[in-house]
Amino acid sequence: MQYRKDRSGSDLSILGFGCMRFTKKGGGIDLDKAEQEILAAYAAGVNYFDTAYVYPGSEAAVGEILERNHIREHVRIATKLPQYLIGSRAAVDRYFDEELARLRTDHVDYYLMHHVTDVAMWEKLKKIGILEWIAEKKRSGAIRNVGFSYHGNTENFLRILNDYDWDICQIQYNYFDEYAQAGVEGLRAAAAKGIPVVIMEPLRGGKLVNMLPDGAKQAMRESGRGWSAAEWGLRWLYNQPEVTVVLSGMNSLDMVRENCRVASEAQAGAFTEADFRTLAEVSAQIRAKEKVGCTGCRYCMPCPKGVDIPGAFRCYNAMSIESKSAGRFQYAQTVGLTKEPAFATQCVGCGKCEQHCPQNIPIREKLKEADRALRPLPYKLGINIARKFMFR
Ligand code: SF4
Ligand code: SF4
Repeated sequence: MQYRKDRSGSDLSILGFGCMRFTKKGGGIDLDKAEQEILAAYAAGVNYFDTAYVYPGSEAAVGEILERNHIREHVRIATKLPQYLIGSRAAVDRYFDEELARLRTDHVDYYLMHHVTDVAMWEKLKKIGILEWIAEKKRSGAIRNVGFSYHGNTENFLRILNDYDWDICQIQYNYFDEYAQAGVEGLRAAAAKGIPVVIMEPLRGGKLVNMLPDGAKQAMRESGRGWSAAEWGLRWLYNQPEVTVVLSGMNSLDMVRENCRVASEAQAGAFTEADFRTLAEVSAQIRAKEKVGCTGCRYCMPCPKGVDIPGAFRCYNAMSIESKSAGRFQYAQTVGLTKEPAFATQCVGCGKCEQHCPQNIPIREKLKEADRALRPLPYKLGINIARKFMFR
């Protein structure tokens, strides 16, 4: 295993155990199987375990496994506050105390505000006194490091990043989503401030393994590297020194072994020009299945009406590359459930964006098409209800 540093100089294994995909059994987590996988990863040097309040059964499983194997003090637990469910400081205390009880510990090493999508969420937390709460928990040692996990756009990420002295952040990032969400710009901005960056969805929830078109698989084969699809995705991340930990939701011993091997071999800066060309070809093969040839460059932004143009196209494309529901879910999550929604229907047709698009995309027309596909009536209703609940 290789290690990169957190802000206090502690070693974090570059492979983190994502604890949201444990195998299920009888309506719960298959604890014995999860235990074998966690212990195998631990034996190979993994010391970062990521869970969250809302991952069903996960915190309790992690707590029980670490306690009965007497390894709690040898690993770092990262877990998350479900901030979108919270309306008062008393509620923060309740959730946190419950998390400590589930995890069978008296402290959390990395405590993250879960699933932040825009500045308004962070402002809401500040209003209920989260800064004072964090300071108190840090003073008492109940929380060692504080961060946030993020799913909104780059602009909001940078604003949140620069608004507080964070110890860590967690972003979705992979070779296909280099310019989506926080993106490479967010990654580098965090690293430049000395903030460790934890990567989630390094393989797009397995899609960069299981749903590759034939042409993409062929490009990988012809590279002569002999790397698996998963290995390509992980090595691309480890190639970047700004990446601190890559989370993998491991749920088989084979997966643990392969990921640990890659994490012990891959070096930052080791990618060759030929390797980059291979992944560019893989991405091009995936994009060939897309509905809109948007590269996510953001030259069209900002839209005066607040439309997240590349965000809408990315979700629209996900409908054909991944699945209809995956695209719609992403649209609801990143465009619809922000304080200021960024729906394609907010477009008033001024045409400003089209003057800047290097791909000559008829943005106005494609936005209409995208919103129709991404937000059929049941989704519209669902998003409206969720918005009322979240921004009440
Ligand atoms: S045409 Fe629509 S999307 Fe483009 S800048 Fe104007 S309002 Fe925004
Ligand atoms: S300028 Fe064109 S290619 Fe770039 S993000 Fe906007 S729509 Fe996509």
